[in-house]
Amino acid sequence: MWDGTSASAQAQFMEKKKLETFRKRLETRQQELRHMVVRNQQDGRTADDEATQDVADRAASSYNKEFLFSQSNNDRQLLNMVDSALARIREGSFGECVSCGKEINAKRLEAVPWTRHCIECQEKAEKGLLEAAQ
Ligand SMILES: [Zn+2]
Repeated sequence: MWDGTSASAQAQFMEKKKLETFRKRLETRQQELRHMVVRNQQDGRTADDEATQDVADRAASSYNKEFLFSQSNNDRQLLNMVDSALARIREGSFGECVSCGKEINAKRLEAVPWTRHCIECQEKAEKGLLEAAQ
């Protein structure tokens, strides 16, 4: 019962269960982001159509458009990351740093399941010391 074989089978089972949890979380996020991206595109068009009365209104409208634009850019970027995380689950490389291949810290994955980098590589990337992987 407690020999090495069943212990590793047990570990594998846990891994699959964990992976399944991540997959579900990522798919939910993917759906949300897809809705947001579509909605922002529609809002952007609406803001475009509105006739502006004076300079203040125009400024507010263009600020709003810019905000929506950067917002939808962020959503799109995140959506890309969620998409590729789901692809890594299918390929069996989920949880590995795309840069150095080391296992990504479990707590980090828990907090940001779509992350591509381990904490060391992420810090390097933020300092501009790492080539963008994609
Ligand atoms: Zn790394």
